Amino acid sequence: MVQSSVLGFPRIGANRELKKTTEAYWQGKVSSEELFKVGKEIRAHNWKLQKDAGVDVIASNDFSFYDQVLDLSLLFNAIPERYSKYNLAPIDTFFAMGRGLQKKATETEAAVDVTALEMVKWFDSNYHYVRPTFSHSTQFKLNGQKPVDEYLEAKALGVETRPVLLGPVSYLTLGKADKDSLDLEPLSLLEKLLPVYAEILKKLGEAGATSVQLDEPVLVLDLDEKTQGAFKTAYDFLGTQSGSPAITLATYFGTVVPNLAAIKNLPVSSFHFDFVRNPEQLDDVISILSDKQTLSAGVVDGRNIWKNDFAKSSALVKKAIEKLGADRVTVATSSSLLHTPVDLESEKKLDPVIKDWFAFATQKVKEIVVIAKNISGEDVSAELEANAKSISERASSSLTNNKTVQERVGAINDKLSQRAAPFPERLEAQKVFNLPLFPTTTIGSFPQTKDIRVNRNKFVKGTITPEEYEQFINKEIETVIRFQEEIGLDVLVHGEPERNDMVQYFGEQIDGYTFTVYGWVQSYGSRYVRPPIIVGDLSRPKPMSVKESVYAQSITTKHVKGMLTGPVTCLRWSFPRDDVDQRTQAMQLALALRDEVNDLEAAGVKIIQVDEPALREGLPLRAGDERTAYLQWAAESFRISTCGVQNSTQIHSHFCYSDLDPNHIKALDADVVSIEYSKKDDPKYISEFLNYPNHIGLGLFDIHSPRVPSYEEFNAKIAKILESYPAEKFWVNPDCGLKTRGWEETKLSLTNMVESAKHFRELY
Ligand code: GLN
Ligand code: ZN
Repeated sequence: MVQSSVLGFPRIGANRELKKTTEAYWQGKVSSEELFKVGKEIRAHNWKLQKDAGVDVIASNDFSFYDQVLDLSLLFNAIPERYSKYNLAPIDTFFAMGRGLQKKATETEAAVDVTALEMVKWFDSNYHYVRPTFSHSTQFKLNGQKPVDEYLEAKALGVETRPVLLGPVSYLTLGKADKDSLDLEPLSLLEKLLPVYAEILKKLGEAGATSVQLDEPVLVLDLDEKTQGAFKTAYDFLGTQSGSPAITLATYFGTVVPNLAAIKNLPVSSFHFDFVRNPEQLDDVISILSDKQTLSAGVVDGRNIWKNDFAKSSALVKKAIEKLGADRVTVATSSSLLHTPVDLESEKKLDPVIKDWFAFATQKVKEIVVIAKNISGEDVSAELEANAKSISERASSSLTNNKTVQERVGAINDKLSQRAAPFPERLEAQKVFNLPLFPTTTIGSFPQTKDIRVNRNKFVKGTITPEEYEQFINKEIETVIRFQEEIGLDVLVHGEPERNDMVQYFGEQIDGYTFTVYGWVQSYGSRYVRPPIIVGDLSRPKPMSVKESVYAQSITTKHVKGMLTGPVTCLRWSFPRDDVDQRTQAMQLALALRDEVNDLEAAGVKIIQVDEPALREGLPLRAGDERTAYLQWAAESFRISTCGVQNSTQIHSHFCYSDLDPNHIKALDADVVSIEYSKKDDPKYISEFLNYPNHIGLGLFDIHSPRVPSYEEFNAKIAKILESYPAEKFWVNPDCGLKTRGWEETKLSLTNMVESAKHFRELY
């Protein structure tokens, strides 16, 4: 009988219970007992669901109140002194590291004021982990025993589990040195860390665990020799401890083939590989298995919402079995299911035809079991038939196929992605805008107030008419325009009050998209996102943003910048199709946006910004052909959307949350690009743009914080930048949109920013 395995299950709860309780705990509305109780209920529910479905290998320790990597830092006592010094309860130290803590002094307790550890994207997903942060004084030791407790908790419920932990090489490699120890190389801590790993493994063994899953996802990255060598050091040690559970070493999100030498001959009992992303690695990875080692074959996608193709997955697993025998192969999810929504059954509003194409985490658990049964020769013919029917219906459906769109993508040529003239000529034509030196602008959104959310809800529920809603939005736009005129900004925006989200807003107006009501996925901590789903070929039936931009332009004599979300960002922040490649989907979006850009121009909006904050995260994890191709088509899709305009129309773009390589920015050929810069402050970075003629807007303040930078602070910042960057190409703006800010700080910060730009205008 072939075994089935799930590498991890979403921990947010079917109704976002975890978010509600953690946030209530942070607000002091519920006790830690209540918080722990809810965590326990979610875990029990998840284990039972998997057990009832018939999964053989169920994960434990996949739960976290914030982030599983942060759990490890707490467990191993990698707690910087600025957190430990307060002697908070472990759960509060944990949250302080994850999100910072500011608390006034009370009669019995001292004040607390500490910022969070750095948070970074988890590989190429939209999940963020809290970066382990080490210093010379870090003393690894076991601080609690969460994995053991959760293993025993499951056992008490009658569920045997396989605890999962991030492995030591990935844990260190994904970490960084703290400010006070910048010369410290995290991987140099390996020898100190291993005994502590061994200790927790031993405790798991004593508790009864027969196997553990150690995740080493860094194996899908380009690794230097030292890191490759660390696997031998780590696993020769961990794999030979007496009393420890057997180790399954798991990787996902890419191919391990370039790093196979690093894991060959390791004393582990099993390997897990992702065959959804890289089915072609099968033969290579099998070739390194010793006679006793087993293979966990990830064939059900942990990163997407599509129903599995049972025929395809079964074929791959059978191929593995031919070489290894049925007792040495396990059918598994490609990665943890953390990145998928919890349960499709919650969706009552989805078109039943489309719903039949999806599988969320709960459904994927069942898929794993069906595939395992099928391979083992059990009768699952009804499931297989239904699956084949669903797959073929989706492939031929008129909802997925749009001939006109396919032909238009087929006809894309080089001319479509080139402006009519090079930048210097365009710059001449754009002198019509008559902008001063150090032109000031913002990134698009203004505070999304409670009033805006309330009215949007009323409109969605139908308690106000579309006309009433339009009036409300126009009033908001007018407020934003008047404010910008008043403080003297040069290029205005309409403020985006009509947008719930920068991708969903456009997705709702593009044919080929669908939406969920409960399809939440953890992005970080208690922040969850509900990505729209690209179901079919994408097209724009009518203009999407023209009305609001035209209204804004009609009430002012200053220039208003039109505001769109770019093709790559629309793609990356959605669940993409798995039956069509990403480039094609980006091109379809690019063409839809091109029509929108051209419509804006025709309607008199002559400055247009197309945001691409997600461009960086789409970058394939390894250097090589795939990455080169991505950069090429990502830039091309942006240019296709923006190159249909006159030379005199000014195209802007915007990037944030990422260290985007200056070369990738240049490849877009936007007239002006605004980037997040307030925390970068690195003259080396901007010097990369010195020979680039197009203009750059440097973000001068952090929009994540309510803090107001003073006029003097802006002056100092600008003066410093001017030491290495020329005034002629320098736009002045915040780091990003202001939607999460309040009006009070927005007004003060922008006023100081504009005054500072005026000050430098006089000097130059
Ligand atoms: N125009 C968007 C805004 O201002 C850009 C958001 C983003 O880059 N994330 O909100
Ligand atoms: Zn931004």
